[in-house]
Amino acid sequence: MKNASYILRGMTRDGSARIVVENSTEIVNDAMRLHHTSPTATAALGRTLTAASMMGSLMGGKEDSLTVAINGDGPVGSIVAVADYMGNVKGYVGDPTAEADAKSNGKLNVSGIVGDGRLTVSRFLDGKPYNGVVRLKSGEIAEDIAAYYAESEQVPTVCSLGVLVGEEDGRLICRAAGGVIVQLLPFADEKIIGILEKNAASLANISTLINNGATGKEIADIALAGIEYDVFDEFEVAYRCDCSRERTAKMLLGMGKNDVMKLFEEKNDEDIEAACYFCDKKYVFTKEDVEALFSSVK
Ligand SMILES: [Zn+2]
Repeated sequence: MKNASYILRGMTRDGSARIVVENSTEIVNDAMRLHHTSPTATAALGRTLTAASMMGSLMGGKEDSLTVAINGDGPVGSIVAVADYMGNVKGYVGDPTAEADAKSNGKLNVSGIVGDGRLTVSRFLDGKPYNGVVRLKSGEIAEDIAAYYAESEQVPTVCSLGVLVGEEDGRLICRAAGGVIVQLLPFADEKIIGILEKNAASLANISTLINNGATGKEIADIALAGIEYDVFDEFEVAYRCDCSRERTAKMLLGMGKNDVMKLFEEKNDEDIEAACYFCDKKYVFTKEDVEALFSSVK
């Protein structure tokens, strides 16, 4: 599984907690290449993508999807990540160039570009929407995700996320990225809660662990040190966009014929180009295409 991002899932033997571990290094590198993010915007987007990917993998149905949206008042603007039930993910940030001075400990200042605001998790489960919103706790993402689970779903959760950015041949790369989510299940053993909290401190530098070659299993061993557990599965995940010309056409149909035709008027009948927010793929529609599109649904 070298060179691909992957997820490992497991559960404690007594059924008290479940765990998801992800190495998202390649996902974050793909996001960086697509969005040309600054180091700190890479960390903000990378942490959000990693969290959404792990949260997505906790859903049950093949058609289920999950969106994490962070809306703060800092310079990066909105951060959005959308995941499927197998942890494949895509995302974007409002301003990829947003940057802030590093923190005194040398870490990228994610909260400095996110600011104050709220975190929204929207799920489509069995075709039905479910939304939860919480105020941002720190703007560092991992704490905000844990707060979301505690406040909105009443599920005690340990969340750790990390992105390590470096330079290679004069360009920025993500050296290592990943995360861990440990969630208590109903009727969890009280003793386990204390152990999990103690173990969480050892996950503070998860990107360094991954950069030093730690595997998913080795990270799970740290998160669940002192607790017996079983690994369920391990599988590859990727930055994946499912946009298509058909979906873009549907979006144009959703705008209504008058508004789309206005776009042509404004641009002297030049072709309109719709770029995908998530992967920057461009879909070009001529005036004739659009007329044919609207007459096809009459
Ligand atoms: Zn796309």
